[in-house]
Amino acid sequence: MSDKITEKPSVFAMVNGLFEKAADLLGLSEDLRTQLKTPYRELMVRLPLRMETGELRTYQGYRVQHDNSRGPMKGGIRFHPQADLDEVRALASLMTWKTAVVNLPYGGAKGGIQCDPADLSALDLERLTRRFAHRLEGFIGDHQDIPGPDMGTNAQVMAWMMDEYSKFHGFTPGVVTGKPLELGGSEGRISATGRGLFFAVERIAPEINLDLDGATVAIQGFGNVGSWAGRFLAAAGCRIVAVSDADGTICNPEGFDPDQLDQVRSGTGTIMNMDHAGIKKLHRDELIAQEVDILVPAALGGTIHGGNAERVCCRLIAECANHPTLPEADLILADKGITVLPDIYANAGGVTVSYFEWVQNLQQMRWDKERVDSELRQVMHTAFDDLRSAAGEFAVDLRTAAYIVAIRRVASAARLRGMH
Ligand code: NAD
Repeated sequence: MSDKITEKPSVFAMVNGLFEKAADLLGLSEDLRTQLKTPYRELMVRLPLRMETGELRTYQGYRVQHDNSRGPMKGGIRFHPQADLDEVRALASLMTWKTAVVNLPYGGAKGGIQCDPADLSALDLERLTRRFAHRLEGFIGDHQDIPGPDMGTNAQVMAWMMDEYSKFHGFTPGVVTGKPLELGGSEGRISATGRGLFFAVERIAPEINLDLDGATVAIQGFGNVGSWAGRFLAAAGCRIVAVSDADGTICNPEGFDPDQLDQVRSGTGTIMNMDHAGIKKLHRDELIAQEVDILVPAALGGTIHGGNAERVCCRLIAECANHPTLPEADLILADKGITVLPDIYANAGGVTVSYFEWVQNLQQMRWDKERVDSELRQVMHTAFDDLRSAAGEFAVDLRTAAYIVAIRRVASAARLRGMH
């Protein structure tokens, strides 16, 4: 396809490489592979916007609907200057495998607008969001495709999308997730990805003889998911000894208080302004080389690669970010005996609580936070058991096992439905 608009290495090709490896082990036919790799539908929309300043700008929006064999498609909307079709396509396919690995009744999708939200006034952002929702209106729906927030979007953006869609279809809170609580959002959504990651770590720890009480942790990217993961790990007795953001790394062998770090981050824009005795400040790329029990990549894709994997010094990597580890790095980490909890499983807490939100919307019910947390724990623990048994059955690492579990589920649904 010639519609790639950046020169980045193809993330879609990388995801498909992981797919092929699992498909080989499953003995999937070429016909079915082609069907499962090919997105169901790709939308590219033109979004002209008369700015508040009077200037006319035209933005490009995308929605890739990857697969709907197991249910309506689900995935975030990102507003980012580098959002492009290849990346959105890759993330849409990751959503198919992610929803399948934790056994949610969904397929996968992803969307975005190539824009810098920081560059838009509140009114321009609202009008751009509404125009996008208007363009997508015939293709999304609570039984068709359910967007949610992602990088650069938030609960307010979801509220505008829901409102715009509801103008055409009547009040439909279930068309998007990640909404404000007042409009049918779920308790526990903001912390869900970090909490889900914690449940994954909690489940694997005894299997690798890792005592969480006193275990040391390094978090790459102390943003939304990184800070929540840090809070839950600290509450279980872990010591957060190193954290980084785009501006640098800070280390403290005594351990950081994640709430304090979060205050510094939200108050000053970066954790690098954290100041107390015993803190060492390093370049952001030094984070992964810190000697710890658990490394949590929670920043961007591709941060652990062939050029730096040798420096990683931990027992467990729990992937909060999407595709943080490149395939060549996986081989090096395996040689070093490092266990990896793969992204499509480890960061699935967010989409799982989005699913709970959608269920509550369809049933017009509200769950309390305790119910959300206990259902999330059950989903993450059950999914881990599925991964472990596939890893044993095929004698593979957990990433390959996750793809095997996911592809087996999607392939089976696709076969049963026939060509749909
Ligand atoms: P965020 O923007 O809140 O946080 C990202 C953090 O990473 C920021 O602190 C930023 O300064 C830092 N960062 C950027 N580049 C860095 C670098 N090179 N080294 C170290 N730190 C760097 O984003 P988020 O919502 O926390 O998402 C983080 C990752 O988790 C993304 O890959 C996202 O796709 C993935 N993810 C998020 C969710 C969710 O629910 N938000 C769900 C699943 C996966």
